[in-house]
Amino acid sequence: MSSKQWTLLYTAQSYEEAKDVAKSRFNVCQNRRSDVNDQTKFSFKCSEYRKYPLCHFQIKIIVPDNNINSITIMSKNEHEHEQNERNATTRLPSPIREFISTYVKWGLSQSQIKASLIINSVIEYIFFGDHFTIK
Ligand SMILES: [Zn+2]
Repeated sequence: MSSKQWTLLYTAQSYEEAKDVAKSRFNVCQNRRSDVNDQTKFSFKCSEYRKYPLCHFQIKIIVPDNNINSITIMSKNEHEHEQNERNATTRLPSPIREFISTYVKWGLSQSQIKASLIINSVIEYIFFGDHFTIK
């Protein structure tokens, strides 16, 4: 799914150009800068990392100290913007979440909430479930 290889994307004449390319074409924002022996490395990460914490797309721009007009832009991994399945399944369906927040507002205890939720889901099952069983 994710490779550890850096791939060369583009070469630029200036850091500004490289940064523009990274931001406009690859949807990244600046992360950090590190000065290594003979070059300066600028790291960029997915600009939507807050929304997609699993996205490991990365860009790095390397500016060699002895040749600041020969700048390389490299990328690693791909944008991963699919819904995180694990999050989706642990998240409660929205009506139940609404019930819970209402009950919390009313100051019900956890066990009271649990009992109310069971009653609610029974009611939902009877009235809105697949097996419609009103007699
Ligand atoms: Zn991304």
